[in-house]
Amino acid sequence: MTEDILCSQTAEDALIGDLKAGRLPHALLLSGPAGTGKKTLAAYIAKGLMCKAAQSQDRPCGICKNCRRFDHDSMPDLIRPEVKSGEKNIRLEAVRELLEILSRHPLENGNRVVLIENAERLTPGSQNALLKSIEEPDESTFFLFTADSIRSILPTILSRCGIVRIAPWSIRRLSDEMKKHGIPQDRIDDILPLAGGSIGKALQISQDAHFLEDVASAKSIFFDIRTPSDIPPALKALRERKDRGDRILDIAEEETEILLRAPDSVQDPSLSAWKKADVYGLKHILDTIIEAKKYRKSSVGLIPSAEKVLSVLSEEAEKWQL
Ligand SMILES: [Zn+2]
Repeated sequence: MTEDILCSQTAEDALIGDLKAGRLPHALLLSGPAGTGKKTLAAYIAKGLMCKAAQSQDRPCGICKNCRRFDHDSMPDLIRPEVKSGEKNIRLEAVRELLEILSRHPLENGNRVVLIENAERLTPGSQNALLKSIEEPDESTFFLFTADSIRSILPTILSRCGIVRIAPWSIRRLSDEMKKHGIPQDRIDDILPLAGGSIGKALQISQDAHFLEDVASAKSIFFDIRTPSDIPPALKALRERKDRGDRILDIAEEETEILLRAPDSVQDPSLSAWKKADVYGLKHILDTIIEAKKYRKSSVGLIPSAEKVLSVLSEEAEKWQL
């Protein structure tokens, strides 16, 4: 499974080439949008670093004792910070525990890999604590980080890591991968424009029977608003799909983010009208949706929460004469 998700792609290719040539740096950061396979790639590299195959070009071999233990999640020298469920950040305490393990001898004779996924969750204190070990790793220790965004990673950490940027997947690559998962072509065609280059998102959509319906609702309820008189029918439509209301609100947030970050990729007519709005207008809408979601978390009803969003949308639509 791990192996077959990796197609021949540029950055990934170069990295795997370095792994097979035995010349990976001791600290590596894979950065790129969510769902582009960073974790899979990091796991593949960690496995390769710990594999016992005699020739580096054969690693990971998939059959040696270490590869099998890796697949069963029982590799003793694979070190990950412990994150308690419900916690968002990787606390200093977790990093200290990890450093304590590193200060001891490896349990086995071979490479040791510290794998930190979503490194943006490391607090500045946690990052500072890691610095020295990253700077002076012993010969058999490798640090692997993944991050959706490097914005919250300290420059001191970045300057000590080899940074590999993982690009969003091409339409062709997404389509091929979805076919391998047995998804029929007509469904692939529906999903591709919504996946934003993320195989993770594409597969998630494919498993959610209501997703396409929810997207259509999000578009008609939120993005077809032009004047305040459109608000009551929109609320009526939302009431009719009340059980999916929060999911529809999530999609409205995602679509607004795409309008902000990658307007060129927006082709859908309901949404493309909104390209007339400027960054501040779109940010205003996004902030209102985020606020509405917060209200929902504190048990405010769906309709009053959505009403505020719709009123901001009608204000912006009138301002930009959509
Ligand atoms: Zn192996």
